[in-house]
Amino acid sequence: MRWKRVLFSGLGIGLIYTLFIHAKTTPDFPVQDKPIRTIVIDAGHGGSDHGAGGRYSHEKDIALDVALKLGKIIEEAMPDVKVVYTRKTDRFDDVHRKAAIANEAKGDLFISIHCNAAPDIKRIVGHRTVTYRDKKKRKRTRKVPIYESSPNPAKGTETYIWATSKNNAKTESLRNNSVIVFDANSEETQQIMDTRDPETIIMLNTLRNVYFDQSLRLSTLVEDEFTRVGRISRGARQRNEKGILVLHATAMPSVLVELGFISNPEEENYLNSANGQDEMASCIYRAVKRYKDELERIYKSGEPRPPVLETPATGAAAPAPTPARQVVNHISSTVSTATEPPNAPAADATESFSYKVQLMTTEKVYARTNTLFKNLKGTIEREEFKQGRKKVNKYIWGSFRTEAEAQAAVYKARKQGFSDAFMLAYKDGNRID
Ligand SMILES: [Zn+2]
Repeated sequence: MRWKRVLFSGLGIGLIYTLFIHAKTTPDFPVQDKPIRTIVIDAGHGGSDHGAGGRYSHEKDIALDVALKLGKIIEEAMPDVKVVYTRKTDRFDDVHRKAAIANEAKGDLFISIHCNAAPDIKRIVGHRTVTYRDKKKRKRTRKVPIYESSPNPAKGTETYIWATSKNNAKTESLRNNSVIVFDANSEETQQIMDTRDPETIIMLNTLRNVYFDQSLRLSTLVEDEFTRVGRISRGARQRNEKGILVLHATAMPSVLVELGFISNPEEENYLNSANGQDEMASCIYRAVKRYKDELERIYKSGEPRPPVLETPATGAAAPAPTPARQVVNHISSTVSTATEPPNAPAADATESFSYKVQLMTTEKVYARTNTLFKNLKGTIEREEFKQGRKKVNKYIWGSFRTEAEAQAAVYKARKQGFSDAFMLAYKDGNRID
């Protein structure tokens, strides 16, 4: 029952995500703390980079329109929040520059706005005969298909968070931008900032995990708001293979919203309409509002929080009340529990959320008893699905009661060699990421 003990005693940072989800049940307090001071809004693409194209419009223009509308709503409705734009005009910056703008602004949240596109669907509508000459220059004929293409019917919204396969890159971004984390003047702080120190790395990784959960939470809220106005939600998700640079290069919670499919004629009209753009901007705003309110409630309740958020932005006020060393110790104990069986009862089982860990996908079929899974306690499910003509197997570990447990399990799985392992979240038994 090591899990239980850790969850009840010194969980520290790890508890934040649990609390984050449970925060809905805590009473309202007058807001004093400000976990969100700066929101960075990134209109995708720009200038010579048009992004995806529809029949008559470009992704870069829709992204900019909605980004500006979103920013305006936030500026008006949240006067305590500073809005920073990566671009306000039709300008090209590469994605590294966009991430740098966000990091220089010391953003507390990064929202990137994009549109999706799906390739046209081609179907064979007939054949024609063509003549050609073979290697010996003899004349021959053959039939080639005639294709007709039609717009892909794919539609709906998606909100991305960074892929856990890019966790190291996200940690690196936190490390490179950690001046704000460690700008207190104590000697201990300086010592902790020694990036060769394993405890520093653990702390940065834990901060990253907190940001991951916060990003996941916001992405779920964004999709929920889209659903409420009747949009089709394709979910909050990770893009695992290649990742999305602005999501892991920004040292803050980060989401990327795909507003809809510009390749779908009906959605292209919606994406370009003033009403549609107002609706999309309002949806994202309402999600940000819910996210901010939840975070502020947690702050008000006096629970431990990520070190980066402890530090005053200007360094004017007193340093964080929680000594940094103490935070590090909490994290160490949290991480060490990753070697324990994950299925012990969690601190609070009232929520209907549960979590699993996807270990890998492969064509190979392994038994539960395979040495591959030797160090992973608990159930391992194999889900078979078709990828083209191939049968592929998904191996899923767990179930875990809290995100903290699942994150620790992801950490362990990756150490065991499942380098692409990532967390799956479920609400009332339904997959939510
Ligand atoms: Zn894009």
